[in-house]
Amino acid sequence: MTLNLIDTDISIVGAGFAGCIIAHKLASMNISCTLIDRKDPFPDIFRAEKVEPEQARLLKSLGVFDYLSPSPTPVGTIKLFKKGITSDFDASKQYGFRYSDTVNNLRSLLPVKAKLIVDKIDDIRTSTCTQEIKLSSGKLIKSKLIILASGGNGSLLKSFGLRRRYQASLHSLSFGFDIEKTDGTNFDINGFNYYNESDGVDYLTAFNIGNNTMRVNVFTQWQKDNPSVSAFRENSMQTIEKYFPKLSDHIGEYKIISKVQVFPTSFYRLKNIYQAGMIVVGDELQSVSPATGTGLSKIVTEADRLTEHYIPKWLANECVTSYDVWKYYHDKEKSTMERHSKNAWHYYRNMLNPKYKSFKYKIIDRLNNYYFKL
Ligand SMILES: Cc1cc2nc3c(=O)[nH]c(=O)nc-3n(C[C@H](O)[C@H](O)[C@H](O)COP(=O)(O)OP(=O)(O)OC[C@H]3O[C@@H](n4cnc5c(N)ncnc54)[C@H](O)[C@@H]3O)c2cc1C
Repeated sequence: MTLNLIDTDISIVGAGFAGCIIAHKLASMNISCTLIDRKDPFPDIFRAEKVEPEQARLLKSLGVFDYLSPSPTPVGTIKLFKKGITSDFDASKQYGFRYSDTVNNLRSLLPVKAKLIVDKIDDIRTSTCTQEIKLSSGKLIKSKLIILASGGNGSLLKSFGLRRRYQASLHSLSFGFDIEKTDGTNFDINGFNYYNESDGVDYLTAFNIGNNTMRVNVFTQWQKDNPSVSAFRENSMQTIEKYFPKLSDHIGEYKIISKVQVFPTSFYRLKNIYQAGMIVVGDELQSVSPATGTGLSKIVTEADRLTEHYIPKWLANECVTSYDVWKYYHDKEKSTMERHSKNAWHYYRNMLNPKYKSFKYKIIDRLNNYYFKL
């Protein structure tokens, strides 16, 4: 088969949130990049649905904030319900959004310097100076650097000689669904957070997404085989009432109008990452507990640090060495954000399970952090 050669500065494997925002920023700096994804469009799967103020600030500085879909509208003042007390919270710098619509928007609005190829990867070869990706269609992509942004899918780790290190005590399970008022009118609140903080359940957050609809996320520290998971799927309204009593007193009588999506996560971080010519970003590098709301913070920090402080220097040199890559992974802002994301996961786990507050687990957590080099 004759190979169709594509020469590009950077190859990005995975055109999800991380891959797309990095491609947008690089292309705006006149750096050519080729995104490769095995699926188009990006499917309707359960991921981040709210942008926090600091995430919004960095999305603006990366020039992609306006690509959020639906177009960014502040959540406004929301109600909090914690330990029997209701209070107001200013969420005017938070934005609700649809993840898959946003990724598809980012894909369709890529600048000319960035190209998306939808194909299957057959082979990957990395070296200090030239990286090669061979696609099923016969195309061969050559670049100076490969960015692996495949979102925790894990299917390409072997090709790069990468492996995951798991921390068994950190896991979480989240639910997401849409609700509407039973009388069809609009909700008279912008959003509502209901803290349970017992029985392994962190909190419920509901926020307006337009069309008289609210999106609801419920965050727990349950394992997949917890019997409450199937109860939630099969009898959602009763299970919500069990863990969030009298929710309708706060938001009005409601009904669930979508499928209940369920997403389990466990903590992992990749090892063997100091390789010349390639770096890993987003959920593929380190998983995140959805309850912490730090997944996008990690991604926007990576995109900002990489594009502003590392890639332009690397491209000015002949090659991207393993020492260059090592320095990037030790970037202070990036590592602080990754540590913060993991510590926030510890916080939720410890809050819901007193056993983890003991001296023994403090030592185990310290050793784990040392082991994970975070
Ligand atoms: C339920 C849930 C709720 C969350 N809530 C929040 C929140 O409120 N706030 C927050 O900040 N974070 C949240 N997160 C975390 C956040 O969603 C993730 O950190 C973020 O979506 C990861 O983006 P990514 O680009 O790494 O992966 P993705 O956006 O999933 O992209 C991965 C891409 O790689 C492609 N791909 C995979 N394998 C291959 C392959 N072999 N070849 C080519 N392409 C491939 C996929 O098709 C996909 O397009 C949540 C996560 C979950 C699961």
